[in-house]
Amino acid sequence: VSGQTRRSIQELPDELISQIAAGEVVERPASAVRELVDNALDAGATQIQLKLTAGGVRALVVEDDGCGIPKEELPLALKRHATSKIRNLDELESVATMGFRGEALAALSAVAELSLASRLGDAPHAWRLDARSGELVPAARARGTSVEVRELFFNTPARRKFLKTEATELAHCLEALRRHALARPDVGFAVWHEGKLLEQWRAASSSQRMAEVLGEDFIAHSRALEHSAGPLRIHGRVGLPEAARSRADMQYVYVNGRYVRDKLIAHAIRSAFDDQLHGSRQPSYVLFIDIAPELVDVNVHPTKIEVRFRDGREVHQQVRRGVQQALAASRVQPDEARDT
Ligand code: ADP
Ligand code: MG
Repeated sequence: VSGQTRRSIQELPDELISQIAAGEVVERPASAVRELVDNALDAGATQIQLKLTAGGVRALVVEDDGCGIPKEELPLALKRHATSKIRNLDELESVATMGFRGEALAALSAVAELSLASRLGDAPHAWRLDARSGELVPAARARGTSVEVRELFFNTPARRKFLKTEATELAHCLEALRRHALARPDVGFAVWHEGKLLEQWRAASSSQRMAEVLGEDFIAHSRALEHSAGPLRIHGRVGLPEAARSRADMQYVYVNGRYVRDKLIAHAIRSAFDDQLHGSRQPSYVLFIDIAPELVDVNVHPTKIEVRFRDGREVHQQVRRGVQQALAASRVQPDEARDT
């Protein structure tokens, strides 16, 4: 036996449990953007505004025009494992909302100063809840919800030290918003930093939104993709080989509307290019994969950035086929034009 004396087992205090749990979902300001915009979309928002101060580290506000939260449920919204989105295992297995874990607001309020203001469509005014004090007061705003997150990691200094420069955190916040904006061209988005409007994307068609978010060049040098096979539908745009990039910075994959990182899908796409990509050149793409919810598990990772397919081989094969077809169509066209 070593010289270490054994310490007794003790239950952790609630606040520390919440701070530990928050570590899984909140890594940086962009995590708050991801979670709060998810919530706004789940609430049926048609307009979402993001306002940032100091790269989102000092303050970050997401405002929506969604369904709102009734006054009596505001405190519940901040509780861990409290959600309006699922009720039982069946609903978990067929979940269609972005959220379902009931963790984000609780996590954010464990590691930041959070306040929540919301107004139902038929309510005479809004109510604002301050997470720390629990104070609930009347507030002024139109229908919908605003969530303000201030001083991220103020009470967990070790984690605050991991934050990068303001410019870097701002870039991550914008990237988080781009991921949402590409998937929801029907929703308007605007983002401000230090009072200055940085981006405004009005509701548009999917390809218009891609042009706005990724640039006209992406549209000019990509082809539309549309491929269905059984319970799978794959659509989007894939960049032509000559438009491949030195960095993997334009690769967006969505499964049932949720942005994911998936090695299997990335591999399937790359393999569809055969030997047309030189060296480490990276293809660009925006790919939406729609699949029956019972054929995919989205509850793999706390941030939901990973999924598990029941039949991964089939998904791989169909993604590869879909991308091949889109690329082949673009190669055939010039020849046909010459022949006629
Ligand atoms: P989840 O999204 O997994 O349910 P959250 O902690 O993100 O968990 O949110 C808790 C609950 O608060 C949600 O289930 C929803 O009822 C409510 N809520 C959060 N944000 C909004 C919003 N922007 N508009 C309407 N309701 C919201
Ligand atoms: Mg949520």
